[in-house]
Amino acid sequence: MNLLTPKRAGVGRVVTNDICSAAKASGFARHFAVDVSGTPLEGNFLVGQSFGVLPPGVDEKGKPHKVRLYSICSPSIGEDGEGKILATPVKRVIDEHYDDHSLFLGVASNYMCDLHPGDEVKITGPSGRRFLLPAQPEHHDYLFLATGTGIAPYRGMMRDLLAHDAQANITLVMGSPYATDLLYDDELRRLASEHPNVRYLTAISREAQADGHGRMYVGDRLAANIEELMRLLCSERGLIYVCGIEGMEIGIYQALAKLLPREWLGRYLQIEPAALTDIDSWDRRALRTHVKHTSRVFLEVY
Ligand SMILES: Cc1cc2nc3c(=O)[nH]c(=O)nc-3n(C[C@H](O)[C@H](O)[C@H](O)COP(=O)(O)OP(=O)(O)OC[C@H]3O[C@@H](n4cnc5c(N)ncnc54)[C@H](O)[C@@H]3O)c2cc1C
Repeated sequence: MNLLTPKRAGVGRVVTNDICSAAKASGFARHFAVDVSGTPLEGNFLVGQSFGVLPPGVDEKGKPHKVRLYSICSPSIGEDGEGKILATPVKRVIDEHYDDHSLFLGVASNYMCDLHPGDEVKITGPSGRRFLLPAQPEHHDYLFLATGTGIAPYRGMMRDLLAHDAQANITLVMGSPYATDLLYDDELRRLASEHPNVRYLTAISREAQADGHGRMYVGDRLAANIEELMRLLCSERGLIYVCGIEGMEIGIYQALAKLLPREWLGRYLQIEPAALTDIDSWDRRALRTHVKHTSRVFLEVY
């Protein structure tokens, strides 16, 4: 953890910075790969962890920009198989300013998306001690739930699990507003078609689904496919990982609370009985107060 810190940052070199969102996507994302060889990060990161980027310049208070974290989407051996190159999908933050509607550009994401192969970038990390694969990955089955760039850790985790010949059953559910926003979609479809133990499901919230269902969020996809998911979830082997947009866990926990038999629900989430009578009205505050996740649930939202 934190072999490189903002005060003692390392210097990586951009290897690739290619657009990885579809031409018609509603935003822009880039597969950003950086060579960390010669820094303490080389060979010293785990799938599920993040690394930091220090953008140059100062903020509105004249202080150096703070570090921003990016989930590593590479397997633990890196993109290159030698732990020298790690990658992340970076989404450009472009918006209108909340206050005056002027153009709002996120500092680090736009800095990174504008870099070219060969450019230097200040890096920190690795960060994250909990959103990791278990010590004995072959003893588990996995339900991976993602929205947006939350797909990043699963790309690496799936490669790690499959490389170790784990017999684990893996179901990945990826949520996005439009089908064109699904990151690494081709790669994940290929992976699922090549490995019978991998299932790749999507939940598109602003379009009908290719399988005939209407618009849906990740929680709705769990409900639609609950028969096949029940085997994975109602088993001593089951683990649930949730990664992506802050707040996504509400719909997912609501769906699980409605779908899972009480005994199994308790093994994933500890929910005060009173809260179970009013699942539909859960908000972030209610979740914090009434719902605790157990060691079978891993959450990384931002
Ligand atoms: C563990 C972790 C992993 C992450 N992994 C990834 C990843 O894999 N890929 C990825 O792209 N990002 C990831 N992020 C998010 C990333 O760290 C940055 O927060 C993101 O890239 C935005 O940074 P920025 O410097 O571009 O934007 P900033 O300059 O930091 O601007 C964003 C901030 O400005 C404010 N803001 C946003 N929109 C507006 C607006 N319209 N008007 C006014 N204020 C606004 C918000 O407070 C927001 O926090 C991760 C974050 C965490 C904590």
